[in-house]
Amino acid sequence: MDNAQIADRLEAFAAVLELGEANPYTARAYRRAAETIRGAPSPVAELVRSGRVRELRGIGRGIEGRLRELVETGEIAELAELERELAPDLVGLGRYLGLSAKRSVQLARGLGVRTAEELREAAAVGRLRDVPGIGPKTEAQLLEALASEAEPRSRRGLLLNRAWELVGGIAAALDGTVAGDVRRWRDSCEQLGVVCVAADPSPVTTAFAELPQIVAIVDRDERRSVGVTVDGVPVELVVAEPEQFGTVLVRATGSPAYVAALEPLPDAADEEAVYRALGIPWCPPELREEPFRGEPPALLEPGDIRGDLHCHTTWSDGRATVEEMGRAARERGYQYLAICDHTPAVGAVTGLTPDDVRRQAEEIAAANEVLAPFRVLRGIECDILPDGRLDLPDDVLAELDWVQASVHGGQRMPRGEMTKRVEEALRNPSVRCLSHPKGRMIGRRPENALDLERVFEVALETGVALEVNGLANRLDLSGEHVREAIAAGVRIVCSTDAHSIQGLGNMTLSVVTARRGWATAADVVNTQPLERIVP
Ligand SMILES: [Zn+2]
Ligand SMILES: [Zn+2]
Repeated sequence: MDNAQIADRLEAFAAVLELGEANPYTARAYRRAAETIRGAPSPVAELVRSGRVRELRGIGRGIEGRLRELVETGEIAELAELERELAPDLVGLGRYLGLSAKRSVQLARGLGVRTAEELREAAAVGRLRDVPGIGPKTEAQLLEALASEAEPRSRRGLLLNRAWELVGGIAAALDGTVAGDVRRWRDSCEQLGVVCVAADPSPVTTAFAELPQIVAIVDRDERRSVGVTVDGVPVELVVAEPEQFGTVLVRATGSPAYVAALEPLPDAADEEAVYRALGIPWCPPELREEPFRGEPPALLEPGDIRGDLHCHTTWSDGRATVEEMGRAARERGYQYLAICDHTPAVGAVTGLTPDDVRRQAEEIAAANEVLAPFRVLRGIECDILPDGRLDLPDDVLAELDWVQASVHGGQRMPRGEMTKRVEEALRNPSVRCLSHPKGRMIGRRPENALDLERVFEVALETGVALEVNGLANRLDLSGEHVREAIAAGVRIVCSTDAHSIQGLGNMTLSVVTARRGWATAADVVNTQPLERIVP
């Protein structure tokens, strides 16, 4: 059992605990443990077997017991039992329709139905109104949602990494191609799609319905099927005729506005042929948001990246040491990695004092002895204090190879104040890059009020670059803002903000976000060799 599979089962367990109205803290603890396991750098099954799994954050005795059972037997018996009782297909369908899990279970009990199909039948013959608590308005809403012919969309956007895992997993299992928002690498995905190719669609649609990720089918015709996950997230499968695969893929990739402007599309077996027949160049999916028929620029490629300039270690809230992070970066083929741990003002986690910074320098020097010619850079993620001063003295900052300046607390400052605060920090001669400039947490916290146009002016004056943070819940700057920055002539840095070895893989998300902002290699600081980063 790999880490993702273990995490999936723990999440399923959390989901049924919530349905069963267990203590909400228990369910949350399982969700957190699942997240830790998903991000763990080594096989968790081995840690369980060797009795060391409690070294992972958030894994106590209770969860360890469940993990042991899961690893030894391949199942959590109580989970299997609860799943039988709670009918995940009903829950998934209910959530898709906008009902809470609890409400779905009530509805199912009231109707005496046990499966999604039975629920649909009961609805079709007008039995919904017999259920206490379901008024004519709710009934109408449910019937409309059940009958909806519209594009299936998730009610809540999925973070890009989770959406990729879900849709990529389904596509791989069906030998299909990822489409929809995920193929365009949107930062929050609502339209999830997979395109397969087959002359006879029925084996594919049958296999789709039987996937573990899919708990119920909510819509189906010969070449199209919409399934939902237990979380109520709809995934659309389209099975294309071989000679139309390219056409179907363009449509399923979207965006709707982009595709509408290309219609009518000719039938073709692959995408390139569709574009050839239209007489326009093929367009990378990242650029398919607004109507566009022109020649796309030579976008930044993952292979252009020569190093990572923002990561954490055990000195602050990272999980690996300086040398471990450096080695992992070297294995990725990079020339350099900047260690940018936090400073004290960040609050929630350990921050480095001037003394710590100098002691860390020794550890970095030792790592460089071992890893040369690869270079670990002395960096810092220095908090910008509310008044615009930086959280370390200037002489300490001046010693460093790479200084990221970051706003953490006080994201709600009014526009003028926030902009002044950041501007002041950018004028410090040691600062090289502004981290996660808009401070958003996707789905949780909106962008701050920072005036980017003003920041671009100051960045041009001072030579400071703006970060495209690769954490899936940040992706900040967003694609739209990257495009504005580049248009203003400001350079960007693609960074991972990795807190573990595995986190260095966030580079993919940073690069695709930069691509969504039409970035080329020349727009990105860390496509340059080491000698251009630290002269
Ligand atoms: Zn930060
Ligand atoms: Zn950071």
